[in-house]
Amino acid sequence: MIPFNKPYMTGRELWYIAQAHANGHLSGDGPYTRQCHQWLRENTRASAALLTHSCTAALEMSALLLDLEAGDEVIMPSYTFVSTANAFVLRGAVPVFVDIRADTLNIDERLIEEAITPRTKAICVVHYAGAACDMDPILEIAERHGLKVVEDAAQALMSSYKGRPLGTLGDLGTLSFHETKNIVSGEGGALLCRDAAFAERAEIIREKGTNRSRFFRGQVDKYTWVDFGSSFLPGEITAAFLAAQFEEAATITSRRLGIWEQYHAWAGRHEASGLLRRPVVPAYSGNNAHMYYLLLPSLKHRTRFISLLKERGVQAVFHYIPLHSSPAGRKYGRSSGDLPVTCSVSDRLARLPLWIGVEDHLPQVLDALEGTVASL
Ligand SMILES: *Cc1c(COP(=O)(O)O)cnc(C)c1O
Repeated sequence: MIPFNKPYMTGRELWYIAQAHANGHLSGDGPYTRQCHQWLRENTRASAALLTHSCTAALEMSALLLDLEAGDEVIMPSYTFVSTANAFVLRGAVPVFVDIRADTLNIDERLIEEAITPRTKAICVVHYAGAACDMDPILEIAERHGLKVVEDAAQALMSSYKGRPLGTLGDLGTLSFHETKNIVSGEGGALLCRDAAFAERAEIIREKGTNRSRFFRGQVDKYTWVDFGSSFLPGEITAAFLAAQFEEAATITSRRLGIWEQYHAWAGRHEASGLLRRPVVPAYSGNNAHMYYLLLPSLKHRTRFISLLKERGVQAVFHYIPLHSSPAGRKYGRSSGDLPVTCSVSDRLARLPLWIGVEDHLPQVLDALEGTVASL
């Protein structure tokens, strides 16, 4: 069976972990964490980049930084992973779900304004599959209404909007290094702060509400409790693993793009049949080849597609039960209007295996896809 995902290791992870072990610094913010922070700052041009346990943790930090209170509203898509909403719900805020665009499956910027109420504090966008949301109109709406913008860029490292790295267009951006993402550390994530405004407080919230980071830099002579916070920083073992991955980020992206292009060329030959639709990457967006998905005509077709592929030894998966119709989404959030595109895509999307090493099996995968489409 060709699995849907297999995490890639560069080969240097264990060596760097051995170095961290030899350094004797195993808690957070040691040399490997600093190396990762520097790589992120250089490659995203964010003012500040802080490693976290996960993208979920970075989203929770964002909710803390925005000083959200019970009843405040955050506009977001419903077609996303639970953490996008959960992080804000933990602060008592209400996720307000908006439909997605039929092309990129990203939040439909034309529907944002009608979701705004006097309680709205922020817009949290998700760059699905690493394809950028149309950020210019979104930032313009946010500016006009005095709202903050958080980018859930969990899938979007190494992609861009009009040449600018995703995760750095909004006030705050969150990355994931979960083993299903392009660059991994098992579990892991980062918070990006576009400008200095949030950076200092983010450092404090990440370090249990203390100014310990300033103390380590010699900027204060003792450290103390100055704000609310929690422990959001990973240990050096995780950072050492991640440092090895960052060194190969460009190679990882180009190898993934090679696989993505092969799927895209194959699917292009079948698109006219109406049996499938390919992902759309607009001219304003980069492509980090995070995901290759197909849209089938109906839920019935999708179910049959996945099971026929499985019979042929290939694992395809679907995802996102819309948040607005899930039990917790109904309890804690509300929808702005009907969400027909979200509901339809949730029934029809299937994701194909895309991992480094699957190249060797691509003839078999494409063969299985060909047979599957022929008998759909
Ligand atoms: C993977 C993912 C997350 C969660 O990332 P973790 O690092 O596992 O917390 C959040 N949002 C989106 C859109 C994701 O794809």
